[in-house]
Amino acid sequence: MKIVIIGGGFAGLKLARSLNNKIGIEVTLIDKFNFHQFQPLFYQVATAGLDASNISFPLRKVFHKSKNVRIRLAEVTAIQSDKNLVVTNIGNFEYDHLVIATGADTNFFGNTTLQQNAYPMKNTVEALQIKYKLLQNIENALVLNDKDAIEKLLTVVVVGGGPTGVEISGALAEMKKYVLPKDYPEINFATMKIYLLEGTNRTLAAMSEKSSKYSLAYLQKLGVIVKTNAILENFDGTTVTLKDGSTILTNTVIWAAGIKGNVPDGIDASIIVRGNRIKVDRYNKVLNQKNIYALGDVAYMETPLYPNGHPQVANVAINQAKVLANNFLKILMFQQDLTPFEYKDKGSMATVGRNLAVVDFPKPTMFFKGFIAWYIWMGLHLFLLVGVKNRIQVFVNWIYNYLTYDQDLRLIFKKPSSAKKV
Ligand SMILES: Cc1cc2nc3c(=O)[nH]c(=O)nc-3n(C[C@H](O)[C@H](O)[C@H](O)COP(=O)(O)OP(=O)(O)OC[C@H]3O[C@@H](n4cnc5c(N)ncnc54)[C@H](O)[C@@H]3O)c2cc1C
Repeated sequence: MKIVIIGGGFAGLKLARSLNNKIGIEVTLIDKFNFHQFQPLFYQVATAGLDASNISFPLRKVFHKSKNVRIRLAEVTAIQSDKNLVVTNIGNFEYDHLVIATGADTNFFGNTTLQQNAYPMKNTVEALQIKYKLLQNIENALVLNDKDAIEKLLTVVVVGGGPTGVEISGALAEMKKYVLPKDYPEINFATMKIYLLEGTNRTLAAMSEKSSKYSLAYLQKLGVIVKTNAILENFDGTTVTLKDGSTILTNTVIWAAGIKGNVPDGIDASIIVRGNRIKVDRYNKVLNQKNIYALGDVAYMETPLYPNGHPQVANVAINQAKVLANNFLKILMFQQDLTPFEYKDKGSMATVGRNLAVVDFPKPTMFFKGFIAWYIWMGLHLFLLVGVKNRIQVFVNWIYNYLTYDQDLRLIFKKPSSAKKV
């Protein structure tokens, strides 16, 4: 059975691992990056808290001892389902079964001005670009005398009050408080403003009321200016305009306010639903297809418990992959009793800063806040990271950070103008 998996994220990687060294199955795992990315910690890369390599893991290394999983570094451009072919920039791949696990990308909702000027954070490279931008802004501010121009360079607007927006705003506020004044003693960081704009009436709207309440309190404690019911109308690179007509002067907007599924060409438009997700049945099989499946963020599945689709989180992606792997083994053995997927929500969490986090557990209903929640958050993230070395490095980094209130990752890797073109 020749299985091609597109995407080595949470879903694709889990599926390939679950099928590793299974007799009768050949797996080709295709990704446009040669490493797995741990997205929940992107914000720490963007705020110079972790090195990018600490949250990335080479896909080839996962399968060193594999007899049946092969990796291809390629960007998939289309699927030709009538020919069982995946089209990529390095050639075509044939499959018996195809799994689309391409995740999601930033959604700018068609606003091209915003897209050109705002900073998304959906891959490691984008997280690094945010870090460079933030540091370069301060370097630029150093050589200015105009107070307003300096303030504008020091103002950061984060859009989207979900976990990503909350986490990066909190991390920026801690950077402003503990780290930046030591690096740039010439600058008065009291003038640095961090805004968090949220379109609904509360931060962490998908979590419990308590989580919303405490996340807001924590953000305010750290000095983040949180604006709820605030809809960004546009950002032209120098000014954020809100729907109510008010403006914020800044050249840095971090956009964490929407995602859309990465659907390769060749998928019938009639089964692509809200959020650009591919409609699948309870077995993750793409509707109207015999041998194409979709998993994780790009898949949209309705179940009795989740009639509007599952949340786009790592746990759903991982668990869908586990169930599909088992079903592939059953198909291989000509068994009919395939297992339908249902998601068991184990809880959600977000961290705002040191000792400041919120955790909701659904069954039994429990809420944690403060340092206990922060420890739960850290433990779970360490557990989910791929690679023992990465876990150790992240853990050591966090301890070092905790004790020293500092980190030594504020490096701007950019090509000097005199560099030779390669
Ligand atoms: C900043 C951020 C923070 C998050 N925090 C959390 C959190 O705290 N908890 C949580 O549960 N979830 C969190 N999420 C969501 C979580 O990361 C996703 O739900 C999860 O990654 C989905 O897994 P996936 O396998 O569907 O897609 P991904 O993990 O996104 O993997 C998709 C893979 O497909 C590859 N790919 C895409 N298109 C192509 C193509 N055309 N050709 C080749 N390869 C392609 C990509 O390179 C990527 O490796 C966060 C997401 C972000 C962006």
